[in-house]
Amino acid sequence: MAWKTLDDMDLAGKRVLTRVDINVPVEDGKVTDTTRIERILPTIGDILGKGGTPVLLAHFGRPKGKVVPEMSLRTVQPALEDCLGREVTFVEKPDRAVIDAQPQDAVILVENTRFSPMEENNDPQMAQFLASLGDVYVNDAFSAAHRAHASTEGVAHLLPSCAGRLMEAELRALEGALTTPDRPVVAIVGGAKVSTKIDLLANLVRKVDVLVIGGGMANTFLAAQGIDVGKSLAEHEMTDTVSDIMDQAGEASCEILLPTDVVVAKAFEAGAEHETVAADACPPDAMILDAGPESVKRIVAAFEDARTLVWNGPLGAFEIEPFDTATNAAARRAAELTEAGRLVSIAGGGDTVSALNRAGAAERFSYVSTAGGAFLEWLEGKTLPGVAALEQAD
Ligand code: AMP
Repeated sequence: MAWKTLDDMDLAGKRVLTRVDINVPVEDGKVTDTTRIERILPTIGDILGKGGTPVLLAHFGRPKGKVVPEMSLRTVQPALEDCLGREVTFVEKPDRAVIDAQPQDAVILVENTRFSPMEENNDPQMAQFLASLGDVYVNDAFSAAHRAHASTEGVAHLLPSCAGRLMEAELRALEGALTTPDRPVVAIVGGAKVSTKIDLLANLVRKVDVLVIGGGMANTFLAAQGIDVGKSLAEHEMTDTVSDIMDQAGEASCEILLPTDVVVAKAFEAGAEHETVAADACPPDAMILDAGPESVKRIVAAFEDARTLVWNGPLGAFEIEPFDTATNAAARRAAELTEAGRLVSIAGGGDTVSALNRAGAAERFSYVSTAGGAFLEWLEGKTLPGVAALEQAD
């Protein structure tokens, strides 16, 4: 690994600037989901265990460089204290003297980094200021690593830096899935549109052995082959893009799996009357809302041969029954193979986490990334500035 971890750092007596993602959902001033907080607990625990003082840096909402009281991290402080089982010291206007005045075993939370316009501009002055608050920098916010901000990128160049435990787990999982995977690798790319996933598809066809196309995106692929997809969600203007992707796949010997049968309905609603037809037989007044059983069989057969699975996007309109059938069946089989030690399964991005949760499969996958945009940019093969900065750090 080109980056250091907490194991490589001497933290005793040090003030440890720790960039975390605690951008949690809030309703009526109360945190409604503490998942993100729970995921940073190992990092905070390890810093304290090594005799360091965690000084947490985080953004909260989109205050756009202004002080917006409702977006104060004070709102998150009680939930953080509950999850940690200890007090957290909130610092609204940090300086080194205030930080140093806290006891060694304090956990310090600094006000929303995005209250300053210099954060998102990655202003060197802000990076310098943040660096002055600590002795070591730990980045545990993979989900913010696709943004070059002062607290995610700039400051990493100014202090001895390393990845926190969550960042470490995420990077190991992702590198294991696409950089140095056990082959064959199968990827599923589903979801609504090709247009939002062109870079992702172009990167994956070069890296994986089998690419399963699902969801609305599969309709666009079918339409590009001259198949009438009726009223289905499809981007007919993407024909050339789809042809390019098919050509690139051919050159890279990546097999593309499109649905051979589909579930069609006349209404996009739960329990709508539906039937299974061949992929080229969608009635003109119907829409394709899911992959059919024969398609699922082919997808699952690809899993049986594979050693690694990368999954982004549902195979159908998974929010409404019964159009979650293909997504659920494929997710459950992937979970079984993972539990049997036959498959490394990595998933993430947008709706994928909720689709796998619905299928009862998320917990059984090898790794499910909650990083959203950063996960997608990584699947696109892009360099994430927050990770690159850690790699250059000494
Ligand atoms: P994305 O955010 O790109 O991953 O897309 C996920 C969305 O695509 C979900 O809301 C699904 O309901 C939707 N979707 C998947 N398959 C279809 C389909 N065949 N027709 C319409 N919407 C679909």
